[in-house]
Amino acid sequence: MLVATLDYLTNISGDISSPKIIDDLRLEEAADMATHDFLTGLYLRSIFDFTLERMVVEHQRHNKELSLLLLDIDDFKKVNDNFGHPAGDDVLRRISKLIIGSIRKADFPARFGGEEIAILLPETSIEQATVLANKLCKNRRHCFAENGPAITVSIGVSSIHKQGATIASELVQKVDKAMYEAKRSGKN
Ligand code: GH3
Ligand code: MG
Ligand code: MG
Repeated sequence: MLVATLDYLTNISGDISSPKIIDDLRLEEAADMATHDFLTGLYLRSIFDFTLERMVVEHQRHNKELSLLLLDIDDFKKVNDNFGHPAGDDVLRRISKLIIGSIRKADFPARFGGEEIAILLPETSIEQATVLANKLCKNRRHCFAENGPAITVSIGVSSIHKQGATIASELVQKVDKAMYEAKRSGKN
């Protein structure tokens, strides 16, 4: 409708010399809502899937490394059961905020599932990605009050590198496996 109105004012009416849409901000908001999860502010799963496919292709074409983190909050069900769903939501929000504050502008954090967050790290080796994973595990402490729920996270890391012919689904399978490995070996 905005485009049609602009077209009308420019071409048909002709009375206004250079009309422009003044509510760009609303358009930006609408785009934001269509791509981001409301609770966490992270990208939606659908946007992640699309971005992952593109990034894998791009990185392979340019022989660059691409890493993926998959973070799952430990015993999250207990947080909900013991402290209530609003407290659980708050934990999700705080962890998401920590992630957003810890990554680069080019990185891509998304809500992968309920309490699972995926982070795509362009041009990042598995070693560098592991450093970030350890940093998040360590810094999650600072997100919560001393007397609040004791939250830990488990993180899987996977990556494609120069010679690897990994496809997107394989990268996700590997990171999922790595994350469950972290769970099996005692979480946190
Ligand atoms: P594990 O350490 O093995 O990951 O155990 P867990 O309890 O974290 O995992 P489980 O899959 O058993 O439970 C996940 C819980 O996350 C169950 C679900 O109700 C909760 N959950 C998912 N999305 C949300 C949400 O948006 N808000 C809240 N408060 N809880 C959520
Ligand atoms: Mg889970
Ligand atoms: Mg969990």
